[in-house]
Amino acid sequence: MKLGILSRNSKLYSTRRLVEAADQRGHEVRVVDPLRCYMNITAHNPQIHYKGDILDQFNAVIPRIGASITFYGTAVLRQFEMMNVYPLNESVGISRSRDKLRSLQLLSRRGIGLPVTGFAHSPDDIDDLLATVGGAPCVIKLLEGTQGLGVVLAETKQAAESVIQAFMGLKQHILVQEYIKEAKGSDIRCFVIGDKVVAAMKRQAKEGEFRSNLHRGGSATLCRITPEERATAVRAAKVMGLNVCGVDLLRSNHGAVVMEVNSSPGLEGIENASGKDVAGMIIDFIEKNAKPNRTKTKGRG
Ligand code: ADP
Ligand code: MG
Repeated sequence: MKLGILSRNSKLYSTRRLVEAADQRGHEVRVVDPLRCYMNITAHNPQIHYKGDILDQFNAVIPRIGASITFYGTAVLRQFEMMNVYPLNESVGISRSRDKLRSLQLLSRRGIGLPVTGFAHSPDDIDDLLATVGGAPCVIKLLEGTQGLGVVLAETKQAAESVIQAFMGLKQHILVQEYIKEAKGSDIRCFVIGDKVVAAMKRQAKEGEFRSNLHRGGSATLCRITPEERATAVRAAKVMGLNVCGVDLLRSNHGAVVMEVNSSPGLEGIENASGKDVAGMIIDFIEKNAKPNRTKTKGRG
């Protein structure tokens, strides 16, 4: 097959591993910087141009679109979908996952366990908003934050009010969430491919930190998950419409809750913790599933 990887940097671990796995399986693979793609939007013959070439050779594309380029990156991916190229994850699923509020609303609609979460626009509603999530301590998040940046733990009601006011003053959309203290700075990353969790790891925040992100100094170890956790992760992926994703669970007193679904999950942490060839499994999945006209949305919606 001819595969395209939409990634800004071919030196990144995840990109390198996907290239390697595709090579090993005899596929032709090219890394394409989505920000260098330009397009003509026509009904009859949609095209993507890249550094003077026309990209019309791919059977499938693997989007590795960073949060900072979601808007342009998903537009490029949508164009591939219009050209009937099979996307590992569809643009719609990626857009959903990048908006924490939209994701949580979709997941809650399907009865998936979540931390109690509230959101409001007006500073006048802060008091009530805090009460709905059980008061302080609570977690305040920017809707489009990533890698732990934009996630704040407010220990007291006063702190929560000040932080919320500050974010609102900066015209940032936020959500306020019950703090799952019993998780003790850890979460479980379930790596989903298709309808399976192929590997899971526990991420533990460094001393004095509540965010377990590896980018924030967290450490990862292999972990066993329960059949319920497995089922929850697979359902969450399905609801989001993602074939490949990282579903992050917090182990709370009321069972595992989904904190976030990541549509471009990193491979380094999970491959090191599990010792598994996750990149290879992704390419295997594409071999089984990539066919023209297999996208559900073809860039619609
Ligand atoms: P990001 O998209 O920036 O990774 P997350 O929502 O995943 O944002 O939050 C970052 C980290 O903060 C999580 O990995 C988790 O360790 C911690 N965290 C987030 N929400 C909660 C919560 N409600 N209770 C306890 N810890 C949380
Ligand atoms: Mg996260």
